[in-house]
Amino acid sequence: MSESAMADYNNKETRFILSMLREASALAMTVQNQSALFTVEKSDLSPVTVADFAIQALVSHRLFSRFPDAILVAEEDSASLRRSEGREMLEVITSFVARFIPEASEEAVCDWIDRGAAADGGESFWTLDPIDGTKGYRRGGQYAVALAEVKGSQVMRGALACPALSAKEIPGLNDTGLLVFAMRGEGSWMQPLSVMDPGLATPLQVNQCAEASQARMLRSFEAAHTDTEALERLAEALQLDPGANVLMDSQAKFAVLASGGAEFIFRLLSPDRPGYKECIWDQAAGSLVVEEAGGRVTDLEGQSLDFSQGRRLKNNTGVLATNGVLHDVALDALKTIISS
Ligand code: AMP
Ligand code: MG
Repeated sequence: MSESAMADYNNKETRFILSMLREASALAMTVQNQSALFTVEKSDLSPVTVADFAIQALVSHRLFSRFPDAILVAEEDSASLRRSEGREMLEVITSFVARFIPEASEEAVCDWIDRGAAADGGESFWTLDPIDGTKGYRRGGQYAVALAEVKGSQVMRGALACPALSAKEIPGLNDTGLLVFAMRGEGSWMQPLSVMDPGLATPLQVNQCAEASQARMLRSFEAAHTDTEALERLAEALQLDPGANVLMDSQAKFAVLASGGAEFIFRLLSPDRPGYKECIWDQAAGSLVVEEAGGRVTDLEGQSLDFSQGRRLKNNTGVLATNGVLHDVALDALKTIISS
């Protein structure tokens, strides 16, 4: 890594992005500790908690304070909170946001959330998943706050805060909580989430494993998010060791792959949702983190992810992320699975 790349990691905008994610993580952990895990179900039956809304309000407010003309594409909207049955939840959300932004009111919180709700992308925009892996967050598993900047069809900057990653998943991490940052053409770095010290940042590098039979596969913890039966066949085709199959929620998977802790991430489509198109905030930050650590990310057919298509990856089907060395082997194995 060049010295100028490291200097970029230290620049003011990078520090601003990372400090927002550290605040967001602090909020997520506070909500978790206070068991204020109010949950409502969205129309697609996925859960959304106090923390999802509060983090979207917080990051949106911070982002627009610094970049007033920015466009934000974020997962949540405030419609359910503005209805009478959402008032109690909104009150709790506002009290958490006010710990970070004292002037937060219920109306302002809804407005901040909605600045991310309507946008559909554009030539240059940000995308946020306030809590990626909400089900993991509620269960005490992995989750991530994911923020990325997109220009054209590509992710240019990506950051992930993964408060539940520990030395178990990232050897050498001495504290629980990981912060990851990537810049296109400049590399990927990680640092402990607990302290903001660029001096502690270390480059992320995928491993060079070239033997599929020795590789480890990361996949969704939630069976409903993938195709478990096809994953079994894939593991068999690749002759993976069954013990090397790791179930993990959220884009924390991309951080683990980028750190050399695994070789494959497969996002296969759930048989219940054959036409599923990935949400951009679920893939943007994580995919750049892996690419800039030397890995490769495509869809299941080997096409580049195209982030210029609005809120979803309309031109892509599923996602494959690898250490790069094993990417073509994985694509070949996928062909045999899909045709069989
Ligand atoms: P993961 O933790 O990797 O399973 O991914 C979590 C993300 O999967 C959530 O943020 C959702 O946006 C997304 N998701 C929810 N339901 C599905 C589904 N049926 N198929 C694919 N992704 C889904
Ligand atoms: Mg998500």
